[in-house]
Amino acid sequence: MKNISIKVKITMWYLLLMTIMVIMVLAFILAVSSSVTTQTAISRISSTVRSNLAQVSLSNGKISLGEDFHFYQNGVYTLVYSKSEALIAGQVPVTFTQNEPFENGIIHTVSTDDDNYYVFDLWLPFDWENGVWVRGLMEVPEDELVIKNLILVVAVAMPAFILFATIGGYWIAKKAFKPLEEIISTADSINEASDLSARINVPSGSSEFTRLASTFDQMFTRLEQSFEAEKQFTSDASHELRTPISVIKGACEYALKYDETPEERQETISMIYRQAVKMSGLVSQLLSMTRLEQGTEKANFENINLTELAKSICSEQIYAARNVYFECEKEISVFADATLITRLIQNLIDNAVKYGKPDGHVWVNISENGNEILLSVKDDGIGIPKEEQNKIWQRFYQVDTSRTDGSSTGLGLSMVRKIAELHNGYMSLESEPQKGSNFVLHLPKSSN
Ligand code: ADP
Repeated sequence: MKNISIKVKITMWYLLLMTIMVIMVLAFILAVSSSVTTQTAISRISSTVRSNLAQVSLSNGKISLGEDFHFYQNGVYTLVYSKSEALIAGQVPVTFTQNEPFENGIIHTVSTDDDNYYVFDLWLPFDWENGVWVRGLMEVPEDELVIKNLILVVAVAMPAFILFATIGGYWIAKKAFKPLEEIISTADSINEASDLSARINVPSGSSEFTRLASTFDQMFTRLEQSFEAEKQFTSDASHELRTPISVIKGACEYALKYDETPEERQETISMIYRQAVKMSGLVSQLLSMTRLEQGTEKANFENINLTELAKSICSEQIYAARNVYFECEKEISVFADATLITRLIQNLIDNAVKYGKPDGHVWVNISENGNEILLSVKDDGIGIPKEEQNKIWQRFYQVDTSRTDGSSTGLGLSMVRKIAELHNGYMSLESEPQKGSNFVLHLPKSSN
């Protein structure tokens, strides 16, 4: 039983239930129809005998039968007997061989060799002494026809109906379970062939299984995306780390092979140091990114005073010396992680300074707009060409590598975007080459 599929189990259950139901309904119909047949027959014999009785009279010492007296009507034989039970009028049916004693007003059943009869006698008195018996005889109607029909229904129609219902039920169950089978085979193909691009692709519907299938498809898409992202990340990271490593390796090989002057050695050491700094920055950025994306770096959301936070970052010595201005009309609080928001603001200001003109300016502004809180970091630097504006958010993407210093990794903005998303917000950018850029963080007010 354990190995039988759910759809077969359901079909079997309904088959059993339907068979029991059909048997019960048939038994009920049989019982009711037999009782109805008996009742009809009894009322027929009773009314026929009574109406014939009204036609019997005594005139001039003789029994006379009225015009409306019928010896045989509605399947009922009417007979008239004398007080001494001698037949006066009417014809006894051939199969009624019994010599049945008279009982006034009682319908009873008499069995003969060939047939069963209802017998109904009424005593019609003419005076104290005289009178006649009026007897009605009627064959007990056989339920045979009804039973025959029912047996026919049971034998042919019901099995056909049950078969039809079973096939229909099985078909519906099979159709309903199809998405589940596709889920299983898709999951199998992913498992066996490691093919994350496989999808169930069940036509949309509202059944539980189609919903489950589309949830699985969404899950597969997310899995594939994160798997692809991981692949991309690993290959990008190894590629980015390879460059400083080969520079360090080359410099060491050269220093080992040739006698360098103290100045040259100094230069080699400082180059190795710069590359090591770059690698260390890259590794720590990579680590933070991975922790953020994998959710291992848990955000600590609380109500923070964004105005105070941004102001204190701008007044840090390193920025104060670089014409970083802070503008905010009022105190604005947000429900956010202070460490992550600090990292976001620092990244944006660092970029604004890095890609700004030597005597350029940076404006940090906090404002409210409808349901949003906006934090913008604007510069009057080199700007970003239109066609590059979508790409700069990708990991390791740099517009012009010749402009970047040793510490640039191309990871800053992808981290900024991730932090914005973690706060249910998003980033926007307006930029024009040689005029400057304006990076804006949009945070929903509702998350306050
Ligand atoms: P990184 O600054 O380490 O190169 P980012 O992800 O922070 O990496 O930035 C990606 C690229 O976007 C930078 O290399 C630069 O070309 C461009 N960029 C970022 N901010 C600015 C800015 N304020 N002005 C001009 N270009 C910018």
